[in-house]
Amino acid sequence: MVLQELPQDTVRLIKSTQVITTPVSLVKELLENSIDAGATSVTIRLEKYGFGLVEVRDNGSGIEEEDVKFIAKPHFTSKIESFADLASLNTYGFRGEALASLCAVAEVSITTKTKDGVMGHTYTFDHAGTVTSKKPAAAPNGTSIMARNLFKNLPVRKQYYSSSKRQKEELKKVEDLVLAFTLAAPVVHLTLSHDKLTVIQKSSVKNIQEALMSTFPAVYKDLVLRKKNIEDIHIETYLPCLGPNENPSLSRTTPDRLFVLVNQRPVVHKSIEKVVKAFYSQKVQGSHGRYPLGVVTLSVPPASVDVNLEPNKNKILLRNENQVLETVQEILSELYGPLEQHPKKSND
Ligand code: ADP
Ligand code: MG
Repeated sequence: MVLQELPQDTVRLIKSTQVITTPVSLVKELLENSIDAGATSVTIRLEKYGFGLVEVRDNGSGIEEEDVKFIAKPHFTSKIESFADLASLNTYGFRGEALASLCAVAEVSITTKTKDGVMGHTYTFDHAGTVTSKKPAAAPNGTSIMARNLFKNLPVRKQYYSSSKRQKEELKKVEDLVLAFTLAAPVVHLTLSHDKLTVIQKSSVKNIQEALMSTFPAVYKDLVLRKKNIEDIHIETYLPCLGPNENPSLSRTTPDRLFVLVNQRPVVHKSIEKVVKAFYSQKVQGSHGRYPLGVVTLSVPPASVDVNLEPNKNKILLRNENQVLETVQEILSELYGPLEQHPKKSND
């Protein structure tokens, strides 16, 4: 056996392709960066399902000229200084991996202007995240990041996503992600377009209730708000008591419209999905085996949540997870009535 160190460009590609796995993970990273930069408006533009172009434009802080050379280098971040800072994290990002990974798998250019900058600049980057050109640009305050030809250098992945069925599935995932952020970040004006067609447009609103009204106008009035606190955790649920017979938009066979937000971060939380489904599908007529459209939000002290489980930060660990689940269950029990442990076979 010959043991040898991998070349840097190989290491970079191997790691990056785990962070940016699909167009949706790319959109997620860029959208989170925009919100972290204080943006109140973010415009996402895709071409060819994101494989041709992903552009995310924001009106956030912009990037200082002297910082640009570092932003796409691995592990450069302005958000934390040490591991201990994760205990008080209030940003989506903290690992300094997204832009570096993006450069490794796509052709990247960034146009940015800070409010104190005299003018904006457009920068291009190579696969190592090094700036290869800088040109003055007439740009508004904020940042626009363009990623072209995603996965051009990864033939297997590129081919996997070449079927139109998979491309459509990917676009649907981007849509679900942006919908989740309309609820997670109500004050942000969000637009998503694909090949010049507007897919989602949501204006800036004050809170999650208004966001629900604007994002899901057909079901908003059927969502019931419940709240509970346990110690320093605050839980809110917006769930329907009606089934598909009364309003078909309220119930689905998949959990993709049951949004779980932890400290404004959209996450996948299987146990919460499962318990909500258990109540909804057993107690609401016509909903057998179905999930409701709705939202479960948890506000927890940042020190009580570990978001560093996976490269995409979609899954989290909670301190007192059992207590949280019990409290969600109490809410569900009050809303729908207690769960029967051995439900009789019903016909719905
Ligand atoms: P992270 O978000 O974990 O810090 P990223 O690779 O996503 O890592 O971004 C690196 C750095 O680039 C960020 O810490 C931030 O300082 C800067 N940055 C990225 N996107 C933006 C943006 N849209 N506006 C302002 N600054 C940005
Ligand atoms: Mg980031």
